[in-house]
Amino acid sequence: MRKLVIRYLSRIALPALFRRLHRNHVAVLMYHGVMPDEVAVAEGDCLQVKASDFRQQMEYLKKHYAVCSLHEAYSQIGEAGAKPRAVVTFDDGYANNYLTAFPILRELGIPATIFVVTGKIGTDKVFWWDRLHLATRGTVPIGVEFTETLKRVRPQAVEDQADGYLRRLGLAFDHGQAAYYRVLDRDEILEMAASGLVEFGCHNHDHEPLNTLHWQEIEATLRDSTAYLEALVGPVRYFAAPYGEYDNYTFPSLRLFQFELALSTEEGFLSAASDRFRIPRLSIERDASLAEFACVTSGLMFWFHRCKAALGFRVRRATVEHGTEGAAAANRQN
Ligand SMILES: [Zn+2]
Repeated sequence: MRKLVIRYLSRIALPALFRRLHRNHVAVLMYHGVMPDEVAVAEGDCLQVKASDFRQQMEYLKKHYAVCSLHEAYSQIGEAGAKPRAVVTFDDGYANNYLTAFPILRELGIPATIFVVTGKIGTDKVFWWDRLHLATRGTVPIGVEFTETLKRVRPQAVEDQADGYLRRLGLAFDHGQAAYYRVLDRDEILEMAASGLVEFGCHNHDHEPLNTLHWQEIEATLRDSTAYLEALVGPVRYFAAPYGEYDNYTFPSLRLFQFELALSTEEGFLSAASDRFRIPRLSIERDASLAEFACVTSGLMFWFHRCKAALGFRVRRATVEHGTEGAAAANRQN
């Protein structure tokens, strides 16, 4: 039904109208991974976009938007250009950002910002949500309550808890499955930074949700992460909140580390009215058709969600920040 509505809306040229309405706004896109088409991902893993889809989406962006860096977008905020502006961001720092997405970005000359989890750089560690996806392959529902619990487990213990859960199901995570799910290494980061197209932002040292931490722990993870990145690629100007979870209590720390902008996972556009510590984004998920991509980037989908909410209908969370929200949604059969 949703796909039919999207197809209909895009056929009657509404995305073009909404692009015009949003021409003073910036569409900040939130990606996570980009997988080669031939790599099968687990059911419910909505955050690994197919390479062929990503290429189509980037070509579409180049045609209809002025694609720019975060700095350019924010410094020219409110100024109307010939085309509306768009920014490409990736969360978590998957190695496939380098292996699969970067060649496409370089070919098309599209800048991007990658928010990398520094504690996993150069390791073969796999995020707990990917361990669950890869081991269950969508055959076992992963309870929402369980994933919410894991978000709050200390980084040192979270993989053990995920593996314990799998053991109780008679399953095990196999590292052999995980080649495409590791995080970037130093050389990959350096090469992308040297291209001048890609910059790097803070996504915490171990992907901890800031709103669960004491201020001393908040500052420790920000310090570890920014120090690592600064030693590698220079000043770190941007922050994206793991799981999209942070609050006013964390803002003094974000100021202390002199971030220019902090990006949230709320759905929406960057505009002159935006709070610079709560920049909304538009999440792009796996298997989004080009028609859906046009509806999301133009703001048509955002408007549709707001209308639905105003009428009292439940709106599926439009932006997700890690791989479990999609699985949870699939398990609820949304
Ligand atoms: Zn993340």
